[in-house]
Amino acid sequence: MIRRLVDSTRWRFIACVVVGNLLSGLVSAFVWLPLASRFLESDKTLGPWIPMLLSILLAIPISSFISRVSAKPIQNMVEATKSISRGDYSVRVEETGSGDIAELLRSFNRMTAELGSTEMMRNDFINIFSHEFKTPIVSIRGFARRLRRGGLTREQQAEYLDFIVEESERLSKLASNVLLISRYENQKLVAEQTDYDLDEQIRTSVLRLESQWAPRGLIFELDLPRLPYRNNSEMMEHVWTNLISNAVKFSRDGGAIFISGTQENGRIFVTIRDEGVGIRPQDLGHIFDKFYQGDSSRMAVGNGLGLALVHRIVELSGGSITAESTLGKGSTFRLELPVHPAD
Ligand code: ADP
Repeated sequence: MIRRLVDSTRWRFIACVVVGNLLSGLVSAFVWLPLASRFLESDKTLGPWIPMLLSILLAIPISSFISRVSAKPIQNMVEATKSISRGDYSVRVEETGSGDIAELLRSFNRMTAELGSTEMMRNDFINIFSHEFKTPIVSIRGFARRLRRGGLTREQQAEYLDFIVEESERLSKLASNVLLISRYENQKLVAEQTDYDLDEQIRTSVLRLESQWAPRGLIFELDLPRLPYRNNSEMMEHVWTNLISNAVKFSRDGGAIFISGTQENGRIFVTIRDEGVGIRPQDLGHIFDKFYQGDSSRMAVGNGLGLALVHRIVELSGGSITAESTLGKGSTFRLELPVHPAD
């Protein structure tokens, strides 16, 4: 693109000079030459030089005017770039002309729009992040002060301590999720990949979360053949932990959760289905956004970062994840992963 632009700018410059000279030549032929022939008649030495001099003098302003007009879009872009360097992402250039210059102006406007929205997302992220952090800290402080004042029954004390433990757990989960998201967002390649069986990793994740599902009478139905896989296993653990704990969290007591997996043409397909509360259609398009919590989240604690983290990890692994849901009937999460992410 840059090469083509340089070429076209070079041609523009040559065209300006040619057109400028042509115009001044025409003026010379029709205006200055008749005048010069008169000079020639009166002055034999100066006569032939006068039309040439006048033609050069005329060619300079004409060429510079034409080149200034044709370089205007680039000049506008230079000015816009200076505004961007001062942090003003609202600046746009007029999309004039055709060919490579027009393409460059369009790309420039797209780039500034993208930069502007990234900046807005960054500000939103900081605002939500500080709010999410502040809320548990404020409640922990409130409960701790109330405990310090004394005069509470044993039950009240136990209840307040439970709140403190719950809120500090939320805080620590939030901090680790934020750190993980920012780590994986800045990562372009998956490091420390090893060969392992994905089905085994999913089974282990289900068992590790037993304390969450067993007391609520939930049952798991697994249909997982051997799924040899290569990836960073620690990173993939976050995917299963988040998806399974969501399925558990949003299931009704005594409900069932189904996990199945297949492998075909170098790709692994995993489905996690629950028969829980489901997701409202208006929430479904946002559940993978950072800090987004749907209506169903009112029944369970969370921070809206789990699925954003899952999405980023799956993306980093070269796969994809989709969600389907029927309110009141349950949700299904489908993952497609290349057996070798580097492929
Ligand atoms: P949270 O910490 O709130 O669970 P997530 O990012 O994991 O955050 O999920 C985002 C939102 O998606 C949740 O608040 C919830 O509304 C919805 N959600 C995710 N998984 C399920 C599920 N299995 N069933 C119903 N709703 C779900």
